[in-house]
Amino acid sequence: MSYDLHTRINTSPNSLIDLRSDTVTKPTMGMRKFIADADVGDDVYGEDPTINKLEKMLAERLGKEAGILMTSGTQSNLCSVLTHCARGEEVIIGKSYHIFIDEAAGASVLGGVAMAPIDTGDDNEMLPENISKAIKPDDPHCPISKLVCMENTVWGNAIALDKMIAAQQEANKHNLFTHLDGARFFNAIAKLGCSENDLANCADTVSICLSKGLGSPAGSVLLLPKDLETKARRWRKMLGGGMRQAGVIAAAGIYALENNINRLKEDQEKAELLAKELKKYSNESSDQKIIQNTNMVFFTPHAKDGQKLLSFLGERGIIINEPLPSTRMVMHLDISDNDLKYVVNSFDEFYNQ
Ligand SMILES: *Cc1c(COP(=O)(O)O)cnc(C)c1O
Repeated sequence: MSYDLHTRINTSPNSLIDLRSDTVTKPTMGMRKFIADADVGDDVYGEDPTINKLEKMLAERLGKEAGILMTSGTQSNLCSVLTHCARGEEVIIGKSYHIFIDEAAGASVLGGVAMAPIDTGDDNEMLPENISKAIKPDDPHCPISKLVCMENTVWGNAIALDKMIAAQQEANKHNLFTHLDGARFFNAIAKLGCSENDLANCADTVSICLSKGLGSPAGSVLLLPKDLETKARRWRKMLGGGMRQAGVIAAAGIYALENNINRLKEDQEKAELLAKELKKYSNESSDQKIIQNTNMVFFTPHAKDGQKLLSFLGERGIIINEPLPSTRMVMHLDISDNDLKYVVNSFDEFYNQ
């Protein structure tokens, strides 16, 4: 069998169209070949050349002093919070942010770090006035405010650079450090069109996922200043993230950085197109809602249609999240133009039956 490098590998018997998340992407043939050729070593000894290359590559690209390969975005965020904060210290964070709601409260469980969730603005950004209100006085009744956690994109929403800078300045004014959960950092860049360096500059530490829109099978990178690196590596080891010949994972990351960043615009265009098509089925007075942000479409069908839609699409090999009442559909590397047409046609069939 021969493959070209962009050949998608479908391990399922029928090739399903999986819209649940951009985490479902499978490594392409090109990525698999690149992984196969990777030089590896023992990373706990600092001897994996491919990991070292990836860490340096991404740090230099984003103007940070150091990078550390992590097993996941959750581990990367956790290492950052534990590096910044000791027991009894506190993180101020958007109340809808991943670190607060979707990471099993690891910083509190494992680090004794308190979390102060705050209301965010229209684009889910951290509002300076809410940050300053949440900062605790130097009083024995209170935890010690230490870190402000930002996120971009949030629920697919790309937060403009000036809003990020405003939050950072507020944090710095009060001598707090900043962390950016940039799981989908490059989706934000694709939308905002600002420089990668400028966005990375909005926080002391930045975490980036390789395994979402970038299409790697695993891995995240934490970018940080040199003086935090030793401490963060100790936490990573303690959290079970000291991998050995993980150059095979780093190789996928290098391949992703070189091949899969520029194409994120296509995912956004596909999401825009899907949202536009879905608008045909809703009208001003209906309870159907469609929100599109970067590569995501949030669709709320009529309550009576939700379950029927789920199984109708399922029968046609299209997997979506259960509408509860809203469903998130995400565009990614494994959704081709034809797949999208097929999805749009399937919605047409559903609403015209
Ligand atoms: C996915 C995600 C993470 C965590 O990444 P995992 O690799 O799934 O642990 C963190 N933050 C945000 C905003 C995410 O979307």
